[in-house]
Amino acid sequence: MKGIQDRGLWCTRSFVNGQWLEGQRHFAVHNPANGAWLADVAEAGAEETTAAVEAAYRAQQEWARLPAAQRSKTLMAWHDAMLANIDDLARILTLEQGKPLAEAKGEVAYGASYVKWFAEEAVRVYGDTIPGPGPDKRVLVIKQPVGVVGSITPWNFPNAMMVRKAAPALAAGCAFVAKPAAETPLSALAVAELARRAGLPDGVFNVVVGTDAPAIGQVLTQHPHIRKFSFTGSTATGKRLLAQCAEGVKRTSMELGGNAPFIVFADADLDAAVEGLMLAKFRNAGQTCVCSNRIFVERSVYEAFAQKVRAAVAGLKVGDGLEPETHIGPLISEQAVSKVAELVSASVAEGAQAEAVTDVPSQGHYYPPTVLSGVSNRMAVARNEIFGPVLPLIPFDDEASVIAEANDSEFGLAAYLYSRDIGRVFRVSEALEYGMVAVNDGILSNAAAPFGGMKASGHGREGSKYGLDDYLDIKYLCLGGMDR
Ligand code: ADP
Repeated sequence: MKGIQDRGLWCTRSFVNGQWLEGQRHFAVHNPANGAWLADVAEAGAEETTAAVEAAYRAQQEWARLPAAQRSKTLMAWHDAMLANIDDLARILTLEQGKPLAEAKGEVAYGASYVKWFAEEAVRVYGDTIPGPGPDKRVLVIKQPVGVVGSITPWNFPNAMMVRKAAPALAAGCAFVAKPAAETPLSALAVAELARRAGLPDGVFNVVVGTDAPAIGQVLTQHPHIRKFSFTGSTATGKRLLAQCAEGVKRTSMELGGNAPFIVFADADLDAAVEGLMLAKFRNAGQTCVCSNRIFVERSVYEAFAQKVRAAVAGLKVGDGLEPETHIGPLISEQAVSKVAELVSASVAEGAQAEAVTDVPSQGHYYPPTVLSGVSNRMAVARNEIFGPVLPLIPFDDEASVIAEANDSEFGLAAYLYSRDIGRVFRVSEALEYGMVAVNDGILSNAAAPFGGMKASGHGREGSKYGLDDYLDIKYLCLGGMDR
């Protein structure tokens, strides 16, 4: 419990119907920075998940009946509790996930900003009145919460990925059952404790933790009381879960993998582009679905840009996220390190050149930040989501060819482009088949904006005025006999 001020936030059991569940069996959580044991967490499986869904079902209708202003007030209390405990939440996050403490703090604040945003939006669920087709008819549209929501989230943002889904769901009047990743359950459980303290009624917000993801996932996608399923994770797992949801025709939001192009035109401010790239590439050691995965640089500035990138990467300090000078922490597991190493050696075998920061700790799951030059869009490193601190540079010759190459991917989540030419900015932004395009910026996500993808990157939006719609059903009321 290294350095946690409020020991009540160190929670190691599932949170169901306002209770912490005991378990017969436990699984261990380790610190990826050094392999140290952190906690034994009680295993939950299908039975506990079913109990959570049933508790959520019982709690949801009353939660939905509350005036929106009251739900909003409770969500604001949850938000305030997150910010009041930001140091502890960040520390728990760094311990189990590895990212630098400053980034962990940023993630907690980012997650909390969605709670605030949707607490404010909760009171603005407007319907419509529509002119009817005849003198006797009136047409009304109301919006109602979909009901019980199941969610599964990954280990790369153990706080924010879950909170970003729970906030709109609860604001809309839904009840929520979360399954965080077994690698990083502690952040989600700490947030559950804060939900309890903030006064969320029993059963409205539940967190189930366990290592048998398929068993838990089966309940969350197929239980008859589940009306909506929201997932963030890999495309492969997302496809499987989407198929499971098809059986019960559940509503779904799928936030899946990415393969973000980062395009630098010759007219760009190259220093600003390097600065943006460092954020878009190395945040969370490259383990984000919006990480720039293919860096396309116009040939006339390719060498100049590559020099600047090499200099910036050489200055990165790799180490334990709890050390204040660390820029880049460990990857989540040894398996993750091997996957990245394989992609790099495959591209080197195909002719790319690799230059790596050499100074990385010998213990822990570290991969050195690496610049790969002479990469082509056909190489494995450009076809797959790298999920590690590897920066592949690909030269290009003109606007049309870079648009075609950027779009030549099954994914369509985030894209970045740097140019000072306003016409080009619009042409290229509109041509990119991506749900989000950042122009002259390396960080694009915030609560006011709709986060989400196209193609195999999924569907649905998180954040913004659109984010609430994912948790609302539209109901049409047909009123007849109005002329009598
Ligand atoms: P990653 O490979 O990055 O861990 P996954 O998509 O496998 O990405 O994991 C994201 C989340 O999905 C995690 O919470 C994980 O436990 C869960 N998960 C993985 N496989 C399944 C499955 N078959 N059914 C339900 N959940 C799953």
